[in-house]
Amino acid sequence: MSIKTINVPNTTTTSVEKSTSNTWSNWAGNVQCSPEGIFYPKNEEEVQQLILTAANSAKHIRVVGSGHSFSKLIQTDSLIVSLDRMSGIIDLDKKQKIATVWAGTKLKDLGELLFEQGLAQENLGDIDVQSIAGATGTGTHGTGMQFGNLSTQITAFTIVTGTGEIIHCTKDSNSDLFNAGCISLGALGIITRIQLRLRTSYKLEYVSKKSTLEATLADLEKYNRENRNFEFYWMPYTNKIQHRFSNETDEPVKDNKIKKYFNQVILENTTFKFLCTIGTWFKSSFIRINKIIGTLVNEDRKINYSHRVYASLRRVKFKEMEYNIPLKHFPEVMRRVDALVRQEKHRVFFPVECRFVKGDDLWLSPAYQRDSAYMAFHVYYKTPHNPYFTDIEKLMMEYDGRPHWGKMHTRTAKNLCTTYPKWDDFQAIRKSCDPHGVFLNPYLKQVFGV
Ligand SMILES: Cc1cc2nc3c(=O)[nH]c(=O)nc-3n(C[C@H](O)[C@H](O)[C@H](O)COP(=O)(O)OP(=O)(O)OC[C@H]3O[C@@H](n4cnc5c(N)ncnc54)[C@H](O)[C@@H]3O)c2cc1C
Repeated sequence: MSIKTINVPNTTTTSVEKSTSNTWSNWAGNVQCSPEGIFYPKNEEEVQQLILTAANSAKHIRVVGSGHSFSKLIQTDSLIVSLDRMSGIIDLDKKQKIATVWAGTKLKDLGELLFEQGLAQENLGDIDVQSIAGATGTGTHGTGMQFGNLSTQITAFTIVTGTGEIIHCTKDSNSDLFNAGCISLGALGIITRIQLRLRTSYKLEYVSKKSTLEATLADLEKYNRENRNFEFYWMPYTNKIQHRFSNETDEPVKDNKIKKYFNQVILENTTFKFLCTIGTWFKSSFIRINKIIGTLVNEDRKINYSHRVYASLRRVKFKEMEYNIPLKHFPEVMRRVDALVRQEKHRVFFPVECRFVKGDDLWLSPAYQRDSAYMAFHVYYKTPHNPYFTDIEKLMMEYDGRPHWGKMHTRTAKNLCTTYPKWDDFQAIRKSCDPHGVFLNPYLKQVFGV
């Protein structure tokens, strides 16, 4: 399996840069912990050194990207490792449109670095602050039926396993590890390098329009077919929808800074935060708030380079659960969500985001072997997420729903193993890569049934 191993210097973890802070929290603030230390290796030797030291002293490691997951993936009282010092492009083949990047590279930096070289990622999600390893490690996705989630852009990666072995794999060499590792929740080892399939840089014309739920469901197939990227937001308790289309264009950049500031900062963040605060104070106001948000949907059009169009500003904190369901069930599930929220009077005043993604072959991908719809449910971070999330999760499970790995859910090995055909193969790879359980934490033990 191994194509490259290196000698480990006989030193302790203290030679690796360590943060003075011993507290850690994710972006939403719903996951917190007090690790023994947060370490910042600068190269693969230091990564290997950290892993072997942890293994020899029965400690655990959770590797963090930007801490933007809502699930308890990083929570540990042992060691956290961040690859923030391992960032940037290592190697670029412009002709083949392939780049190898350090796994700690943030998507925003990557977008600009690639743009300087006339290249871009084919698709992205709606923020760009994640690290490339963190985003791909949970199957982060955007929207568009021609595209799989971000992990499907990976053509090779290098991983340091729980035994300190450095393994390079591609679809053709170490293919099982490749298919398991592209979405592996940091459970197989620390990925240090990722090779990505790219394309020539391109501009997108983004258009936002108002619509209604029934009109959207009636024409869903057409919207997905006729647009490169189509998604929509639905305001609960209303029939109101915001459509968001992006299509390639050769027209010049048109992205007015003042309009952008008004839409992104004032409307989508400041006004929205104000409404969320009202919703927290006045518990019975949630239906009215949804109706107000529904009327605030802005019709918009802009043109810019792709990496600048995908990314949105998210200043209002929230908690999120997101489910993947087979595309064919989407209209029925959407109608049932509408009915469920009204029937149970769930106190929610955050839009539901619906996106569409091509199926893939990565073992733990929620889109494994099925074209999919993703439905994302949010609540303001200061308001309770249950019973809303509990009821939604039950509904999603009726349709063979698979949770987004970076979002909140209550699933465990017992019911996950039935929806992932390659579940047992993944567990076998996990055991061989991490026989001592260095990368396990309580959350992963529950998810994997260890
Ligand atoms: C505001 C907001 C918007 C979001 N938008 C979207 C969206 O549009 N689409 C979507 O699908 N998701 C979205 N997400 C979810 C987010 O993309 C995922 O949770 C993603 O995993 C976060 O990336 P990160 O770099 O913060 O990783 P972290 O949350 O820090 O880590 C995620 C996982 O990756 C593992 N990992 C990190 N680095 C490595 C490494 N070097 N080697 C091995 N494993 C590693 C970690 O151990 C962990 O299991 C959003 C989240 C937020 C908060």
